[in-house]
Amino acid sequence: MRGLPKLLDGIVKYTLRDKKQAALRLQQCTKNPEPLGVMFSCMDSRVLPTRFTQSDLGDTFMVKNAGNFVPYPDDVIDMSNTSAPSAALDLTCVKNSMKHVIVTGHSDCKAMILLHNLRNEVDNQMGSPLELWVKKHGRRSLKKFDYLTKENKYVGPVPFHLKGCNQSLQVSIDPENKFCETDKLSQVNCVQQIENIAAYPFLKDRLHTSDLFIHGFWFDVNSGNVFMLSKKQQKFVEVNESTYSSLLEEVKDLD
Ligand SMILES: [Zn+2]
Repeated sequence: MRGLPKLLDGIVKYTLRDKKQAALRLQQCTKNPEPLGVMFSCMDSRVLPTRFTQSDLGDTFMVKNAGNFVPYPDDVIDMSNTSAPSAALDLTCVKNSMKHVIVTGHSDCKAMILLHNLRNEVDNQMGSPLELWVKKHGRRSLKKFDYLTKENKYVGPVPFHLKGCNQSLQVSIDPENKFCETDKLSQVNCVQQIENIAAYPFLKDRLHTSDLFIHGFWFDVNSGNVFMLSKKQQKFVEVNESTYSSLLEEVKDLD
């Protein structure tokens, strides 16, 4: 089954099988909302963070766009160019005091492939809406991508500075060289969004007092593997049974 019939069929299955349980959970969430935070993810149909994190209704707020960009604060300072991601940070982290922001990138990202293709013309003001979007918000990622060179076997490290937390990272990008160039750009781009978020002045106090934490996930659409940015190991680490304990150590006291 394809198209709208598939969606209608899904809704009927949901009403028969899951709706009763969902309604109970929704009432619980409305009475006592406890969302853990907000996720910024690429809008690609293959990337469903709520599915690979097995999240429930009410667990996370979600913002999706092409390339999982969160514009750098200097790029969205006034009414004419405010952005959905910055409004979402205000809604979740400031107005509702949520403690976690998670940026999710992925492999075979069409926005990253486009950004890579346009890497020598980011200053050209002309283009389609998608081209202008990736050029405007991807230029910082491209600059960091330049740290991957033949001399370091295209693994970096790539420097990032998280302003609000006053933390510097030297992130190795795909140190085993398993992924293609545009997937490496996607990993760089994911960490760049963390740097962008940490630069928002209205988040500075919460980051400084450890009332807010920013994380990175990366999803491989070929294997279904999920990676987490380990700030301790300064690289993306595949999340599985063997890495779970060490990754848990990094995040278990953050609530
Ligand atoms: Zn994508």
